[in-house]
Amino acid sequence: MIKNLPKANDYENVSIECLIQAYNNIVTIDSYLTNATPREHIWEYNQVVLRTCLVLVHQGIEGLLKAVICNVSPLLLLDKKRSEWKTLPESKDESFDDLYTIGGEDLLRTFFGCQNPKNISPKFLNLYEEVRTKRNKIVHGTAKQKLSPEEVLKFILNTFTFLLGRDTFWNSVCSKFYGHPGFEFGDENIEWEDEYFYNRMDHLDFFLGKKELKKHFSVDISARPYLCPICTEKAEKITSKGIERPESKWAFLNPNKPGSTDMSCIVCRTDFGVVRQNCGINDCKGDVQYLIEEEDLGDNDIYVCLTCWKSKDDL
Ligand SMILES: [Zn+2]
Ligand SMILES: [Zn+2]
Repeated sequence: MIKNLPKANDYENVSIECLIQAYNNIVTIDSYLTNATPREHIWEYNQVVLRTCLVLVHQGIEGLLKAVICNVSPLLLLDKKRSEWKTLPESKDESFDDLYTIGGEDLLRTFFGCQNPKNISPKFLNLYEEVRTKRNKIVHGTAKQKLSPEEVLKFILNTFTFLLGRDTFWNSVCSKFYGHPGFEFGDENIEWEDEYFYNRMDHLDFFLGKKELKKHFSVDISARPYLCPICTEKAEKITSKGIERPESKWAFLNPNKPGSTDMSCIVCRTDFGVVRQNCGINDCKGDVQYLIEEEDLGDNDIYVCLTCWKSKDDL
């Protein structure tokens, strides 16, 4: 008998770890950019990081394909002729981990044998081929080809969206980040990073653009953006210049309809209700407000405008 058969989740978890590690490697280097050294020089210097990321993406894709196959049977992953399986009664047990598993073309064909091809984007095959070819050159060649952080980021996002669905990239980034043990121990560094978590979305937007990014979210992020009360308040700081707040806008009416009173922030993944009333403060054209303070008597409730973050209290 073949023992210790893996579960689909085992493969899926490892794959997500690989993909998120690749993403984090890129963000980490970009977060230390300064105006002194041009970004292309930094990435020229860090080509080895991008090559490592690409190998991780390849491992991530293969693991996600294996997860789907595993749901049918992990035995389909074994790369050994059935006639050579040591499974007859007189044979000793074998552990799945000690056996070779399929890769490349065999893996792809088995995956599509276990999965309705209509459920997978036709673009997935191009992604797989591109990542596989580049990875082979890196692993077996002299790795002279140049990679850009943008192209690797796109490989990561597309892998998530094609194989796991929209929103899974960001949900996985968040689960990994909020699983950091530093939160448990009150580590100031990680808490500081949490306050500026929206920077990650700004980073993706800056280098990939909204058109590319919108493919990976179920909320329409090409619609008019608003300030998220949760993210904005979290990052609020009292400085010598007064109160400073981020201007980053990642909350959207959901659904994006004229009278809509529901909003979703894609950074903190919170849904909240809003009130549609005109702001007009300093000619602000915003008409989406959020109740920040409820008065007991009800007459003086304070609403903040999610376009300019002003409230009647500021007048
Ligand atoms: Zn938010
Ligand atoms: Zn306003």
